[in-house]
Amino acid sequence: MDEFSLIRRYFSDIGGDSGVVLGVGDDAALLRPTAGCELAVTTDTLIAGRHFPIRTAAADIGWKALAVNLSDLAAMGALPRWCTLALSLPDADADWLREFAAGFAALAHTHGVALVGGDTTRGPLSLSVTAMGEVPTGRAIRRDTAHAGDCICVTGALGDAALALQRLNAASTTMQSEDDLALRARLDRPQPRVAEGLALRGIASAAIDLSDGLIGDLGHILERSQVGGEIRVDALPSSAAFARLALPAERADLQLAGGDDYELCLCVPEGRLDAARAAIASPLSVIGRIVEGRGLRVLGADGATMSPSRSAYRHFE
Ligand code: ADP
Ligand code: MG
Repeated sequence: MDEFSLIRRYFSDIGGDSGVVLGVGDDAALLRPTAGCELAVTTDTLIAGRHFPIRTAAADIGWKALAVNLSDLAAMGALPRWCTLALSLPDADADWLREFAAGFAALAHTHGVALVGGDTTRGPLSLSVTAMGEVPTGRAIRRDTAHAGDCICVTGALGDAALALQRLNAASTTMQSEDDLALRARLDRPQPRVAEGLALRGIASAAIDLSDGLIGDLGHILERSQVGGEIRVDALPSSAAFARLALPAERADLQLAGGDDYELCLCVPEGRLDAARAAIASPLSVIGRIVEGRGLRVLGADGATMSPSRSAYRHFE
C-alpha cells in the first residue's frame, strides 16, 4: 500500500464536510470560515513512548491525538471545525491504520470536525494534529485576563490519568478491575470539554486546559495575567475510582502535578459562579482564588502552605 492509497483508504472521509470547499487530495484544503468569527488554531504532537505508552491500542492513539487538540480549542471557548493530521509511521500496517482511523473518526464525528488534509511519512511513530475552531470576534477565553478575587475552578476530576499511568507502569495490577478500567479510560480516551468551553464564554474571565499538570498549567494563567493564586489541596475534585485507589500519600502530587487530565481550569468572578454552574453539565469545583501579587500558594488540608514534591512536566528539563 503506497502513501496515496493509504490516505485515500483511511483518511479521505473523516468528519463530514461542513465549511469545507476542498478537502483531502489537493495541495491545500480550502475552508470557508463563518463571517464574524475569529479562527482559533492549535497544534499538538504525540510521540510514542513519551505521550502515550508504546502498547496503547491504535484506536485510543487516534482518539487521543485529536482529543488533546480539541481540549485546547475548548479552553479558548472555540467551536471545533476542521483539523489536519501529520503522521509518521514505522510501517503501513493495515490493521493498525484501520483502528487508528476509527478512533480518530469517532471523536471527529462526535464534534463535527472535518479532517481536511495532512502529511504522511515513514519514521518513528508520531502524530501531529492541527485543529481549527471558530469563536465570535473578541469573545475567546484567554489566559491573560484573570483578576484578583476570581474563583479558580476546575471541571470534572483531577489525577485519574496520572494514577492510571502509575498503575500501568507498576505492572503489579492487571488493570482489569472496574476502577482500573475507569482510570484507564481517562488516560486513553480523554473527553475534551468542548461544550463547557463554549458555555462558559462570557462567564469565565480566563481559562486553560490541563494537560501538563494543574500547578504548571494554572501557573501559565497567573503569569500571563500578572496575578497570584491560592489553591487548597482538599478542594481538588476526585473521581470515585481515584478516591478508592490512590494512596493517601500520593494523592496531592497526582492531582497537582500529574498530567493528561484534559479538564478545564477556569477563573470565574464570584458573582458569576452560579451562572457558570448552571451553564455546564459537568461538575465545577472551586479550588481557590486569584489574589494580588505573584506566584501560586498551595495550602494543605491543615491550612499550611505546602511545597508539592513534583512539578509540571517539562520537555527540556
Ligand atoms: P503534497 O505533496 O502536495 O504536500 P501530499 O502528497 O503530502 O501532498 O498529500 C496529498 C493529499 O493528502 C493532500 O491533500 C494532503 O493534505 C492529504 N494528506 C496527506 N496525509 C494525510 C493524512 N494523514 N490525513 C489526511 N490527509 C492527508
Ligand atoms: Mg503539493
